[in-house]
Amino acid sequence: MRFLLTNDDGIDAPGLSALAEELAKLGEVLVVAPEREMSGSGHAFTKRFPLRLRRVYKDGQPFGYATSGTPADSVKLGLFLVEREVDWVVSGINNGPNLGIDLFYSGTVSGALEGAIDGFPAIAFSLAIQAGSGQRPDQSRARFVEAAAIARTLLEGLIERGPALARARVCLNVNIPDLPRERIVGVKLTAQGLQRYDDHFLRGEDPFGEPYYWLTGAIVDEDHREDSDLAASKEGWITLTPLRIDLTDHELLKEMRQWGLRLR
Ligand code: MN
Repeated sequence: MRFLLTNDDGIDAPGLSALAEELAKLGEVLVVAPEREMSGSGHAFTKRFPLRLRRVYKDGQPFGYATSGTPADSVKLGLFLVEREVDWVVSGINNGPNLGIDLFYSGTVSGALEGAIDGFPAIAFSLAIQAGSGQRPDQSRARFVEAAAIARTLLEGLIERGPALARARVCLNVNIPDLPRERIVGVKLTAQGLQRYDDHFLRGEDPFGEPYYWLTGAIVDEDHREDSDLAASKEGWITLTPLRIDLTDHELLKEMRQWGLRLR
């Protein structure tokens, strides 16, 4: 079993090394990750510039490769480097939740989606604090080590489903609550939530007298549907959501064919 592992928090993130260590118990791990934090980079990739690749060592041992690109770049380049000799594409563990509408912005989820786009079984892991609390999870390695052990257990149960997932062109999105293991309720199969944000910008002035705008804002419309990943995560569940790379609304498409749209 060979894993291609990436993230969006960067090659030095504690969530990445914790997950690499656990995956190594299941097989060979190729780490290719952005050299710096790329959270919120979504599915961006690099087109107009060459990518750089740097070998990275941790504790004197070869750890993986740092790229100058995004998570999607890292997966593309990793697959190229090993001539697609990969069984699973794995992304994470992200420092913070990736739930609901946030999936559109998440570099972590896009790392896994890229794997699915390229035809591989793929899964993203995030360490979820209470959604909307505005806090960042504990940066300490301990929480990620605990979450990585959970991630490995989950993955063990999913590995034989890999080929079916790849054929269905989906990736899996997992959020593990930032709680001690005994307080985690269990694993819940969920649907992507649809919260809305009230975007707000803090206006300020930089040291050169130029104005800047810094995005803040809050959730104004939470998704309380019982099967939403947001609601389940809040209740202390590990959420597991299958995500399609096919964005088409097939039901509406069928209906729209009856609308008689044409050029005048
Ligand atoms: Mn991140």
